[in-house]
Amino acid sequence: MDDSPFLVRPGVKVSLKDFNPRYTGDFHDKAEAHNKLQIGVQKLGEYQDVLYAQNTYALLIIFQAMDAAGKDSTIKHVMSGVNPQGCQVFSFKAPSVEELDHDYLWRNMKALPERGRIGIFNRSYYEEVLVVRVHPEILARQQLPKIPKGDRIWQQRFEEINNFEKYLVNNGIVILKFFLNVSKEEQKKRFLERIDRPEKNWKFELGDVRERRHWDNYMHAYEETLTHTSTPWAPWYVIPADRKWFTRLAVAHIICDRLKALNLRYPTVSAAHKQELLKARDLLENE
Ligand code: ATP
Ligand code: MG
Repeated sequence: MDDSPFLVRPGVKVSLKDFNPRYTGDFHDKAEAHNKLQIGVQKLGEYQDVLYAQNTYALLIIFQAMDAAGKDSTIKHVMSGVNPQGCQVFSFKAPSVEELDHDYLWRNMKALPERGRIGIFNRSYYEEVLVVRVHPEILARQQLPKIPKGDRIWQQRFEEINNFEKYLVNNGIVILKFFLNVSKEEQKKRFLERIDRPEKNWKFELGDVRERRHWDNYMHAYEETLTHTSTPWAPWYVIPADRKWFTRLAVAHIICDRLKALNLRYPTVSAAHKQELLKARDLLENE
């Protein structure tokens, strides 16, 4: 699969109108994509094993999206082949009182993956330039010493985020960022399903429907974010999200490609360690 249509090229101004949420590439339906996804999921498990053994890199995967775009189910499917010991998922909700008493990166920092692991952020510090931009009253509650006027606050945050990510990458944390691009119509369909199907009722919140009123503002905030924070060291991908089976396939494919490019290797064993292994074999065989 060619993932270049999803990559946000650094420095290019993003218009979400150029990204089709219904895109499914050469695939026509879920059944066709099934085998390919299974292969991707299995490969991901294999890469993760070497990532863990090598203990040099960590992979941080960030998911951002409107409600019901399929973040949860993408995470569930894509990570299904990975050893649970080698991965972790953090979901970021509205900040607590304690979290509000810190800078906005603090809680994210505490949740970063250690070397050898895959860490997933289900929402992230990007909410600070998305929901906070759409609802400026949240910013007013953040007890900041000084808020730059107008759009300057967002420019400042983009810069802070880019610098933070550069720091992480320099220290071995590889970053991939996915915006699951669901259409407003498909979101409506999924909300109606949550209302109509009893086993999905728990996922429905009235507030989510109210938030749809701000759809255009969110799209603007996303366009700005993608434009200013897709960098050579931490790129954004806009993933079509109206067909969940395609979303999973595309995400799995991009993660695999990135891990492959790291050229991961199991640690080589020193001559002394090899000697020890032989000695151990001797001991075992002569027990
Ligand atoms: P679900 O699929 O279960 O609805 P969710 O990620 O939408 O998952 P919720 O508990 O419904 O989880 O929503 C989390 C809410 O927290 C979102 O509305 C999000 O915008 C908000 N949020 C996350 N981070 C921040 C932040 N830094 N500041 C303010 N609000 C935030
Ligand atoms: Mg929600």
